[in-house]
Amino acid sequence: MTNIVDRLKELVKDGGVVTGADISSRATSYWDPSPTAAKALVRPGSTQELSDILRLCHAHDQSVVVQGGLTGVVAGAVSSKDDVIISLERMQALESVDEMDGVAVVQAGAVLQVVQEQLAERGFLLPLDLGARGSCTIGGTVATNAGGINVLRYGMMRNLVLGLEVVLADGTIISSMNRMLKNNAGYDLKQLFIGSEGTLGIVTRVVIRLFPLAKSRQTALFAATSFDAVVRMLKSMQSDLAGTLSAYEVMWGEYFSAVTGDAGHSAPMAPDYPYYVLVEAQGADPDADTDRFEAILERALESGDIIDAILPKSESERAALWVVREDFEPVLPAYLYDVSLPIRAMSSYVERLRAKLAAWNAAAVGLVFGHIADGNLHIFVRPCGDGAAHDECDAIVYGCLAGLSGSISAEHGIGIEKKAWLSESRSGAEIALMRSMKRLLDPKNLLNPGKVIDPAPPSR
Ligand SMILES: Cc1cc2nc3c(=O)[nH]c(=O)nc-3n(C[C@H](O)[C@H](O)[C@H](O)COP(=O)(O)OP(=O)(O)OC[C@H]3O[C@@H](n4cnc5c(N)ncnc54)[C@H](O)[C@@H]3O)c2cc1C
Repeated sequence: MTNIVDRLKELVKDGGVVTGADISSRATSYWDPSPTAAKALVRPGSTQELSDILRLCHAHDQSVVVQGGLTGVVAGAVSSKDDVIISLERMQALESVDEMDGVAVVQAGAVLQVVQEQLAERGFLLPLDLGARGSCTIGGTVATNAGGINVLRYGMMRNLVLGLEVVLADGTIISSMNRMLKNNAGYDLKQLFIGSEGTLGIVTRVVIRLFPLAKSRQTALFAATSFDAVVRMLKSMQSDLAGTLSAYEVMWGEYFSAVTGDAGHSAPMAPDYPYYVLVEAQGADPDADTDRFEAILERALESGDIIDAILPKSESERAALWVVREDFEPVLPAYLYDVSLPIRAMSSYVERLRAKLAAWNAAAVGLVFGHIADGNLHIFVRPCGDGAAHDECDAIVYGCLAGLSGSISAEHGIGIEKKAWLSESRSGAEIALMRSMKRLLDPKNLLNPGKVIDPAPPSR
Protein backbone atom coordinates (compact mmCIF):
# COMPACT_ATOMS: atom_id res chain seq x y z
CA MET A 1 0.00 0.00 0.00
CA THR A 2 1.28 3.51 -0.82
CA ASN A 3 2.70 5.47 2.07
CA ILE A 4 -0.01 7.55 3.80
CA VAL A 5 2.14 10.69 3.74
CA ASP A 6 2.55 10.45 -0.06
CA ARG A 7 -1.20 9.95 -0.43
CA LEU A 8 -1.86 12.99 1.77
CA LYS A 9 0.53 15.07 -0.37
CA GLU A 10 -1.35 14.02 -3.50
CA LEU A 11 -4.62 15.03 -1.86
CA VAL A 12 -3.67 18.34 -0.19
CA LYS A 13 -1.73 20.74 -2.42
CA ASP A 14 0.00 24.09 -1.87
CA GLY A 15 2.16 23.12 1.11
CA GLY A 16 -0.81 21.78 3.03
CA VAL A 17 1.24 18.79 4.22
CA VAL A 18 4.17 19.55 6.53
CA THR A 19 6.82 16.96 7.46
CA GLY A 20 10.25 16.54 9.10
CA ALA A 21 11.97 19.55 10.65
CA ASP A 22 8.96 21.75 9.87
CA ILE A 23 7.08 19.67 12.45
CA SER A 24 9.84 19.17 15.01
CA SER A 25 10.57 22.92 15.03
CA ARG A 26 7.11 23.38 16.57
CA ALA A 27 6.85 23.09 20.38
CA THR A 28 4.63 20.33 21.75
CA SER A 29 2.48 22.92 23.53
CA TYR A 30 2.49 26.17 25.49
CA TRP A 31 3.48 24.07 28.52
CA ASP A 32 5.99 21.72 26.91
CA PRO A 33 8.81 23.09 24.72
CA SER A 34 9.92 19.65 23.48
CA PRO A 35 9.62 19.11 19.70
CA THR A 36 6.34 17.99 18.18
CA ALA A 37 6.36 14.43 16.86
CA ALA A 38 4.18 13.22 13.96
CA LYS A 39 4.31 11.49 10.58
CA ALA A 40 2.83 14.59 8.98
CA LEU A 41 0.95 17.75 9.86
CA VAL A 42 -1.91 18.44 7.48
CA ARG A 43 -3.58 21.83 7.02
CA PRO A 44 -6.91 21.56 5.24
CA GLY A 45 -8.40 24.70 3.72
CA SER A 46 -12.04 23.64 3.87
CA THR A 47 -14.42 21.23 5.56
CA GLN A 48 -14.64 19.16 2.37
CA GLU A 49 -10.85 18.88 2.19
CA LEU A 50 -10.73 17.77 5.84
CA SER A 51 -13.42 15.20 5.08
CA ASP A 52 -11.30 13.80 2.21
CA ILE A 53 -8.24 13.67 4.50
CA LEU A 54 -10.10 11.83 7.26
CA ARG A 55 -11.64 9.38 4.77
CA LEU A 56 -8.13 8.55 3.54
CA CYS A 57 -6.75 8.19 7.07
CA HIS A 58 -9.71 5.98 7.98
CA ALA A 59 -9.03 3.70 5.01
CA HIS A 60 -5.39 3.40 6.12
CA ASP A 61 -6.21 2.91 9.85
CA GLN A 62 -4.21 6.07 10.44
CA SER A 63 -4.55 7.79 13.84
CA VAL A 64 -5.24 11.53 13.79
CA VAL A 65 -4.69 14.22 16.43
CA VAL A 66 -6.30 17.63 15.94
CA GLN A 67 -4.45 20.62 17.30
CA GLY A 68 -5.62 24.19 17.90
CA GLY A 69 -3.53 26.82 19.67
CA LEU A 70 -1.85 24.19 21.90
CA THR A 71 -2.70 26.06 25.10
CA GLY A 72 -4.74 23.17 26.56
CA VAL A 73 -3.65 22.18 30.04
CA VAL A 74 -4.18 18.40 30.09
CA ALA A 75 -1.96 17.26 27.18
CA GLY A 76 -5.05 16.60 25.07
CA ALA A 77 -3.42 17.70 21.80
CA VAL A 78 -0.12 15.86 22.21
CA SER A 79 0.81 13.65 19.23
CA SER A 80 3.24 10.75 18.77
CA LYS A 81 5.54 9.95 15.83
CA ASP A 82 2.87 7.55 14.50
CA ASP A 83 0.08 10.16 14.33
CA VAL A 84 -1.04 12.53 11.61
CA ILE A 85 -1.75 15.99 13.02
CA ILE A 86 -4.63 18.05 11.68
CA SER A 87 -4.17 21.79 12.15
CA LEU A 88 -6.93 24.20 11.16
CA GLU A 89 -4.52 27.14 10.78
CA ARG A 90 -5.80 27.66 7.19
CA MET A 91 -9.39 27.90 8.42
CA GLN A 92 -9.48 31.15 10.40
CA ALA A 93 -12.19 33.22 8.72
CA LEU A 94 -15.00 35.09 10.42
CA GLU A 95 -17.45 33.99 7.74
CA SER A 96 -20.48 36.11 8.63
CA VAL A 97 -22.12 38.25 11.27
CA ASP A 98 -25.89 38.53 11.45
CA GLU A 99 -26.35 41.83 13.26
CA MET A 100 -30.11 41.43 13.61
CA ASP A 101 -30.01 38.02 15.26
CA GLY A 102 -26.66 38.57 17.04
CA VAL A 103 -25.03 35.49 15.53
CA ALA A 104 -21.57 34.93 14.01
CA VAL A 105 -20.24 32.03 11.93
CA VAL A 106 -16.53 31.42 12.56
CA GLN A 107 -14.08 28.84 11.24
CA ALA A 108 -12.59 26.68 13.97
CA GLY A 109 -8.94 27.66 13.39
CA ALA A 110 -9.59 31.33 14.21
CA VAL A 111 -7.75 32.71 17.25
CA LEU A 112 -10.14 33.79 20.01
CA GLN A 113 -8.72 37.30 20.48
CA VAL A 114 -8.76 38.02 16.75
CA VAL A 115 -12.46 37.08 16.59
CA GLN A 116 -13.22 39.11 19.75
CA GLU A 117 -11.61 42.18 18.14
CA GLN A 118 -13.31 41.70 14.76
CA LEU A 119 -16.68 41.47 16.49
CA ALA A 120 -15.98 44.42 18.80
CA GLU A 121 -15.44 46.60 15.72
CA ARG A 122 -19.02 45.76 14.79
CA GLY A 123 -20.38 46.50 18.26
CA PHE A 124 -20.60 42.91 19.50
CA LEU A 125 -19.19 41.07 22.47
CA LEU A 126 -17.99 37.47 22.24
CA PRO A 127 -18.01 36.91 26.01
CA LEU A 128 -15.73 33.87 26.18
CA ASP A 129 -12.48 35.24 27.57
CA LEU A 130 -9.39 33.66 29.07
CA GLY A 131 -5.71 34.36 29.59
CA ALA A 132 -4.79 32.27 26.52
CA ARG A 133 -6.98 34.45 24.23
CA GLY A 134 -4.03 35.43 22.02
CA SER A 135 -3.29 31.80 21.04
CA CYS A 136 -6.26 29.52 21.71
CA THR A 137 -8.63 28.81 18.83
CA ILE A 138 -12.39 28.77 18.52
CA GLY A 139 -12.21 25.02 17.75
CA GLY A 140 -10.03 24.36 20.80
CA THR A 141 -12.35 26.31 23.08
CA VAL A 142 -15.35 24.36 21.76
CA ALA A 143 -13.50 21.03 22.07
CA THR A 144 -12.56 21.77 25.69
CA ASN A 145 -15.78 23.63 26.57
CA ALA A 146 -13.55 26.43 27.84
CA GLY A 147 -14.63 28.58 30.76
CA GLY A 148 -12.56 31.60 31.75
CA ILE A 149 -13.32 34.88 33.44
CA ASN A 150 -16.87 35.71 32.30
CA VAL A 151 -18.61 32.42 33.04
CA LEU A 152 -20.54 33.76 36.03
CA ARG A 153 -22.48 36.02 33.65
CA TYR A 154 -22.44 34.30 30.23
CA GLY A 155 -21.70 30.63 30.93
CA MET A 156 -19.03 28.39 29.40
CA MET A 157 -18.39 27.93 25.66
CA ARG A 158 -21.28 25.44 25.59
CA ASN A 159 -23.67 28.29 26.42
CA LEU A 160 -22.39 30.38 23.51
CA VAL A 161 -22.44 27.75 20.75
CA LEU A 162 -25.70 27.65 18.79
CA GLY A 163 -24.53 25.28 16.10
CA LEU A 164 -21.46 23.63 14.67
CA GLU A 165 -20.05 21.62 11.83
CA VAL A 166 -17.93 18.61 12.55
CA VAL A 167 -16.15 15.92 10.55
CA LEU A 168 -16.29 12.39 11.94
CA ALA A 169 -13.44 9.88 11.94
CA ASP A 170 -14.63 8.28 8.67
CA GLY A 171 -14.92 11.64 6.89
CA THR A 172 -18.69 12.09 7.33
CA ILE A 173 -19.60 15.78 7.58
CA ILE A 174 -22.24 16.60 10.19
CA SER A 175 -23.42 20.12 9.49
CA SER A 176 -25.48 21.15 12.49
CA MET A 177 -25.24 24.90 11.90
CA ASN A 178 -28.32 25.88 13.91
CA ARG A 179 -28.66 29.66 14.39
CA MET A 180 -31.59 29.73 16.78
CA LEU A 181 -31.61 29.91 20.56
CA LYS A 182 -34.49 27.46 20.48
CA ASN A 183 -34.42 24.23 18.48
CA ASN A 184 -35.80 21.14 20.15
CA ALA A 185 -36.05 19.06 16.98
CA GLY A 186 -34.66 15.83 18.36
CA TYR A 187 -31.30 15.31 20.04
CA ASP A 188 -29.04 18.36 20.30
CA LEU A 189 -26.07 16.77 18.51
CA LYS A 190 -23.68 19.68 18.93
CA GLN A 191 -23.54 18.98 22.67
CA LEU A 192 -21.85 15.63 21.94
CA PHE A 193 -18.85 17.38 20.45
CA ILE A 194 -18.55 20.36 22.81
CA GLY A 195 -16.05 19.28 25.47
CA SER A 196 -15.14 16.03 23.67
CA GLU A 197 -11.48 17.12 23.28
CA GLY A 198 -11.05 15.99 19.69
CA THR A 199 -12.01 12.37 20.42
CA LEU A 200 -15.42 12.25 18.68
CA GLY A 201 -15.04 14.59 15.71
CA ILE A 202 -13.13 17.57 14.35
CA VAL A 203 -14.96 20.88 14.65
CA THR A 204 -14.61 23.00 11.49
CA ARG A 205 -17.17 25.83 11.80
CA VAL A 206 -19.11 27.24 14.73
CA VAL A 207 -22.24 29.39 15.07
CA ILE A 208 -21.67 31.66 18.07
CA ARG A 209 -24.17 33.69 20.07
CA LEU A 210 -23.19 37.35 20.45
CA PHE A 211 -24.08 40.07 22.95
CA PRO A 212 -24.04 43.86 22.60
CA LEU A 213 -20.71 45.44 23.50
CA ALA A 214 -20.87 47.11 26.92
CA LYS A 215 -20.96 50.91 27.08
CA SER A 216 -19.30 51.08 30.48
CA ARG A 217 -16.79 49.02 32.39
CA GLN A 218 -15.79 49.18 36.05
CA THR A 219 -12.75 47.35 37.38
CA ALA A 220 -11.27 47.10 40.88
CA LEU A 221 -8.69 45.11 42.76
CA PHE A 222 -9.50 44.84 46.45
CA ALA A 223 -8.05 43.01 49.43
CA ALA A 224 -10.16 41.19 52.03
CA THR A 225 -9.27 39.82 55.44
CA SER A 226 -11.32 36.62 55.33
CA PHE A 227 -12.85 34.18 52.86
CA ASP A 228 -16.27 34.94 54.40
CA ALA A 229 -15.77 38.60 53.44
CA VAL A 230 -14.81 37.55 49.89
CA VAL A 231 -18.07 35.59 49.60
CA ARG A 232 -20.16 38.42 51.15
CA MET A 233 -18.73 40.79 48.53
CA LEU A 234 -19.57 38.36 45.74
CA LYS A 235 -23.16 38.09 46.96
CA SER A 236 -23.58 41.84 47.32
CA MET A 237 -22.08 42.51 43.87
CA GLN A 238 -24.32 39.85 42.32
CA SER A 239 -27.43 41.35 43.90
CA ASP A 240 -26.64 45.11 43.81
CA LEU A 241 -24.91 45.62 40.45
CA ALA A 242 -28.08 45.21 38.37
CA GLY A 243 -26.76 42.05 36.71
CA THR A 244 -23.63 43.75 35.34
CA LEU A 245 -21.04 41.75 37.32
CA SER A 246 -18.93 39.94 34.70
CA ALA A 247 -15.78 38.75 36.50
CA TYR A 248 -14.91 37.94 40.11
CA GLU A 249 -11.42 36.47 40.28
CA VAL A 250 -10.05 35.56 43.69
CA MET A 251 -6.36 35.17 44.50
CA TRP A 252 -5.21 33.74 47.80
CA GLY A 253 -2.44 35.88 49.34
CA GLU A 254 0.30 33.29 48.65
CA TYR A 255 -0.52 33.28 44.91
CA PHE A 256 -0.51 37.10 44.78
CA SER A 257 2.82 37.43 46.56
CA ALA A 258 4.38 34.65 44.44
CA VAL A 259 3.45 36.24 41.08
CA THR A 260 4.49 39.68 42.29
CA GLY A 261 7.64 38.44 44.06
CA ASP A 262 11.23 38.38 42.83
CA ALA A 263 11.33 38.48 39.02
CA GLY A 264 7.53 38.70 38.96
CA HIS A 265 5.06 41.46 38.13
CA SER A 266 5.10 44.72 40.02
CA ALA A 267 2.63 44.51 42.92
CA PRO A 268 -0.27 46.96 42.49
CA MET A 269 -0.92 46.89 46.25
CA ALA A 270 0.76 45.55 49.40
CA PRO A 271 1.51 41.84 48.86
CA ASP A 272 0.72 40.58 52.37
CA TYR A 273 -3.09 40.57 52.56
CA PRO A 274 -4.86 37.18 52.93
CA TYR A 275 -7.14 37.52 49.85
CA TYR A 276 -7.24 39.65 46.69
CA VAL A 277 -10.20 39.96 44.34
CA LEU A 278 -10.13 41.34 40.80
CA VAL A 279 -13.66 42.33 39.97
CA GLU A 280 -15.21 43.69 36.80
CA ALA A 281 -18.68 44.87 35.80
CA GLN A 282 -19.89 45.80 32.32
CA GLY A 283 -23.03 47.84 31.80
CA ALA A 284 -24.83 50.34 29.60
CA ASP A 285 -25.03 53.48 31.76
CA PRO A 286 -21.53 54.80 32.60
CA ASP A 287 -22.52 57.26 35.35
CA ALA A 288 -25.03 55.07 37.17
CA ASP A 289 -22.88 51.94 36.76
CA THR A 290 -19.83 53.68 38.23
CA ASP A 291 -21.81 55.14 41.15
CA ARG A 292 -23.29 51.75 42.01
CA PHE A 293 -19.93 49.99 41.76
CA GLU A 294 -18.07 52.50 43.90
CA ALA A 295 -20.84 52.63 46.50
CA ILE A 296 -20.51 48.88 47.13
CA LEU A 297 -16.75 49.19 47.57
CA GLU A 298 -17.14 52.15 49.94
CA ARG A 299 -19.69 50.30 52.07
CA ALA A 300 -17.38 47.29 52.26
CA LEU A 301 -14.42 49.48 53.27
CA GLU A 302 -16.55 51.00 56.03
CA SER A 303 -17.76 47.62 57.28
CA GLY A 304 -14.22 46.23 57.24
CA ASP A 305 -15.00 43.47 54.73
CA ILE A 306 -12.35 44.94 52.47
CA ILE A 307 -9.16 46.62 53.63
CA ASP A 308 -7.66 48.10 50.49
CA ALA A 309 -8.86 48.83 46.95
CA ILE A 310 -7.54 50.18 43.65
CA LEU A 311 -9.71 51.51 40.83
CA PRO A 312 -7.66 51.81 37.63
CA LYS A 313 -7.92 55.17 35.85
CA SER A 314 -6.73 54.05 32.43
CA GLU A 315 -6.64 50.98 30.22
CA SER A 316 -2.93 50.51 31.00
CA GLU A 317 -3.63 50.59 34.76
CA ARG A 318 -6.42 48.05 34.23
CA ALA A 319 -4.07 45.81 32.24
CA ALA A 320 -1.48 46.02 35.05
CA LEU A 321 -4.08 44.58 37.44
CA TRP A 322 -5.17 41.79 35.09
CA VAL A 323 -1.59 40.70 34.37
CA VAL A 324 -1.20 39.68 38.02
CA ARG A 325 -4.16 37.32 37.69
CA GLU A 326 -3.57 36.05 34.16
CA ASP A 327 0.18 35.83 33.65
CA PHE A 328 1.37 33.12 36.01
CA GLU A 329 4.75 32.59 34.31
CA PRO A 330 6.58 33.77 37.46
CA VAL A 331 5.33 30.72 39.40
CA LEU A 332 6.22 28.14 36.74
CA PRO A 333 7.30 25.36 36.69
CA ALA A 334 4.55 23.96 38.90
CA TYR A 335 1.81 21.32 38.77
CA LEU A 336 -1.46 22.99 37.78
CA TYR A 337 -4.85 21.78 39.05
CA ASP A 338 -8.37 22.83 38.15
CA VAL A 339 -10.99 21.53 40.55
CA SER A 340 -14.60 22.42 41.20
CA LEU A 341 -16.40 22.33 44.52
CA PRO A 342 -19.15 24.26 46.31
CA ILE A 343 -18.15 27.74 47.49
CA ARG A 344 -19.02 26.83 51.07
CA ALA A 345 -16.37 24.07 51.06
CA MET A 346 -13.55 26.09 49.47
CA SER A 347 -11.92 27.52 52.56
CA SER A 348 -11.80 24.20 54.43
CA TYR A 349 -10.64 22.41 51.24
CA VAL A 350 -7.70 24.78 50.89
CA GLU A 351 -6.77 24.37 54.57
CA ARG A 352 -6.96 20.58 54.35
CA LEU A 353 -4.96 20.58 51.12
CA ARG A 354 -2.22 22.77 52.58
CA ALA A 355 -1.90 20.52 55.64
CA LYS A 356 -1.65 17.38 53.46
CA LEU A 357 0.87 18.98 51.10
CA ALA A 358 3.04 20.06 54.03
CA ALA A 359 2.92 16.55 55.51
CA TRP A 360 3.92 15.11 52.12
CA ASN A 361 6.80 17.48 51.42
CA ALA A 362 7.83 20.25 53.82
CA ALA A 363 8.83 22.44 50.86
CA ALA A 364 5.53 22.02 48.96
CA VAL A 365 3.43 25.16 48.52
CA GLY A 366 -0.10 25.34 47.11
CA LEU A 367 -0.81 28.65 45.36
CA VAL A 368 -4.56 29.05 45.00
CA PHE A 369 -6.65 31.31 42.76
CA GLY A 370 -9.80 30.89 40.78
CA HIS A 371 -13.22 31.69 39.46
CA ILE A 372 -14.98 31.15 42.80
CA ALA A 373 -18.42 32.24 41.57
CA ASP A 374 -18.27 29.21 39.23
CA GLY A 375 -17.17 26.92 42.07
CA ASN A 376 -13.76 26.66 40.38
CA LEU A 377 -10.33 26.78 42.01
CA HIS A 378 -6.93 26.54 40.33
CA ILE A 379 -3.94 25.40 42.34
CA PHE A 380 -0.27 25.56 41.43
CA VAL A 381 1.86 23.21 43.52
CA ARG A 382 5.58 23.90 43.75
CA PRO A 383 8.24 22.56 43.68
CA CYS A 384 7.42 19.98 41.05
CA GLY A 385 9.47 16.97 40.09
CA ASP A 386 9.32 13.66 38.26
CA GLY A 387 6.35 11.47 37.32
CA ALA A 388 6.07 9.68 40.67
CA ALA A 389 5.95 12.96 42.58
CA HIS A 390 3.28 14.23 40.17
CA ASP A 391 1.14 11.14 40.80
CA GLU A 392 1.50 11.57 44.57
CA CYS A 393 0.55 15.22 44.34
CA ASP A 394 -2.50 14.35 42.18
CA ALA A 395 -3.62 11.89 44.85
CA ILE A 396 -3.44 14.59 47.53
CA VAL A 397 -5.22 17.30 45.53
CA TYR A 398 -8.03 14.98 44.36
CA GLY A 399 -8.15 13.03 47.63
CA CYS A 400 -9.01 16.25 49.49
CA LEU A 401 -12.11 16.60 47.26
CA ALA A 402 -13.61 13.41 48.73
CA GLY A 403 -17.13 13.95 50.04
CA LEU A 404 -17.41 17.50 48.61
CA SER A 405 -19.43 16.69 45.44
CA GLY A 406 -16.73 18.41 43.40
CA SER A 407 -14.93 17.52 40.19
CA ILE A 408 -11.32 16.77 39.27
CA SER A 409 -11.79 18.96 36.18
CA ALA A 410 -13.78 22.19 36.25
CA GLU A 411 -12.84 23.63 32.85
CA HIS A 412 -9.58 22.14 31.55
CA GLY A 413 -10.88 18.70 30.51
CA ILE A 414 -9.32 15.27 30.91
CA GLY A 415 -6.83 14.76 28.03
CA ILE A 416 -4.08 12.39 29.16
CA GLU A 417 -3.22 14.03 32.44
CA LYS A 418 -6.50 13.36 34.24
CA LYS A 419 -7.56 10.16 32.49
CA ALA A 420 -6.64 7.93 35.42
CA TRP A 421 -8.80 10.09 37.69
CA LEU A 422 -11.97 10.22 35.59
CA SER A 423 -13.77 7.68 37.76
CA GLU A 424 -13.43 10.02 40.76
CA SER A 425 -15.90 12.37 39.09
CA ARG A 426 -18.00 10.11 36.82
CA SER A 427 -19.94 6.97 37.71
CA GLY A 428 -19.33 3.56 36.14
CA ALA A 429 -22.56 3.91 34.17
CA GLU A 430 -21.52 7.34 32.86
CA ILE A 431 -18.11 6.03 31.79
CA ALA A 432 -19.70 3.00 30.10
CA LEU A 433 -21.98 5.32 28.09
CA MET A 434 -18.99 7.50 27.13
CA ARG A 435 -17.23 4.36 25.86
CA SER A 436 -20.29 3.39 23.81
CA MET A 437 -20.38 6.86 22.24
CA LYS A 438 -16.69 6.67 21.38
CA ARG A 439 -17.15 3.23 19.75
CA LEU A 440 -20.20 4.45 17.81
CA LEU A 441 -18.57 7.57 16.39
CA ASP A 442 -15.01 6.29 16.04
CA PRO A 443 -15.13 2.48 15.88
CA LYS A 444 -11.48 2.17 14.82
CA ASN A 445 -10.30 4.46 17.67
CA LEU A 446 -8.41 6.73 15.28
CA LEU A 447 -9.40 10.18 16.58
CA ASN A 448 -7.10 11.45 19.31
CA PRO A 449 -6.57 7.91 20.64
CA GLY A 450 -5.59 7.52 24.27
CA LYS A 451 -7.14 10.82 25.35
CA VAL A 452 -10.09 11.20 27.77
CA ILE A 453 -11.27 7.58 27.57
CA ASP A 454 -10.34 4.27 25.94
CA PRO A 455 -13.03 2.55 23.85
CA ALA A 456 -12.88 -0.56 26.05
CA PRO A 457 -12.19 -0.90 29.78
CA PRO A 458 -8.63 -2.00 30.64
CA SER A 459 -8.33 -5.82 30.78
CA ARG A 460 -7.42 -7.19 34.19
C1 LIG B 1 -2.35 31.33 30.06
C2 LIG B 1 -3.48 30.34 29.95
C3 LIG B 1 -4.70 30.62 30.54
C4 LIG B 1 -5.77 29.73 30.43
N1 LIG B 1 -6.95 30.05 31.03
C5 LIG B 1 -8.01 29.22 30.87
C6 LIG B 1 -9.28 29.55 31.47
O1 LIG B 1 -9.44 30.55 32.15
N2 LIG B 1 -10.31 28.70 31.23
C7 LIG B 1 -10.18 27.56 30.48
O2 LIG B 1 -11.17 26.84 30.29
N3 LIG B 1 -8.98 27.22 29.95
C8 LIG B 1 -7.91 28.01 30.12
N4 LIG B 1 -6.70 27.67 29.57
C9 LIG B 1 -6.58 26.40 28.82
C10 LIG B 1 -6.75 26.52 27.29
O3 LIG B 1 -6.51 27.82 26.86
C11 LIG B 1 -8.14 26.08 26.84
O4 LIG B 1 -8.31 24.71 27.14
C12 LIG B 1 -8.39 26.30 25.34
O5 LIG B 1 -9.74 26.06 25.10
C13 LIG B 1 -7.56 25.40 24.42
O6 LIG B 1 -7.68 25.87 23.09
P1 LIG B 1 -6.55 25.57 22.00
O7 LIG B 1 -7.00 26.11 20.70
O8 LIG B 1 -5.23 26.03 22.49
O9 LIG B 1 -6.63 23.97 21.94
P2 LIG B 1 -5.46 22.88 21.98
O10 LIG B 1 -4.67 23.04 23.23
O11 LIG B 1 -4.71 22.89 20.72
O12 LIG B 1 -6.35 21.56 22.05
C14 LIG B 1 -7.12 21.28 23.19
C15 LIG B 1 -7.98 20.04 22.93
O13 LIG B 1 -8.96 20.34 21.94
C16 LIG B 1 -8.81 19.49 20.80
N5 LIG B 1 -9.10 20.32 19.64
C17 LIG B 1 -8.46 21.45 19.23
N6 LIG B 1 -9.04 21.95 18.13
C18 LIG B 1 -10.07 21.13 17.82
C19 LIG B 1 -11.06 21.10 16.79
N7 LIG B 1 -11.10 22.04 15.82
N8 LIG B 1 -11.97 20.10 16.78
C20 LIG B 1 -11.95 19.14 17.74
N9 LIG B 1 -11.04 19.11 18.73
C21 LIG B 1 -10.11 20.09 18.77
C22 LIG B 1 -7.40 18.95 20.89
O14 LIG B 1 -7.28 17.69 20.25
C23 LIG B 1 -7.20 18.86 22.39
O15 LIG B 1 -7.78 17.68 22.88
C24 LIG B 1 -5.60 28.52 29.70
C25 LIG B 1 -4.36 28.22 29.11
C26 LIG B 1 -3.31 29.11 29.23
C27 LIG B 1 -2.01 28.79 28.57
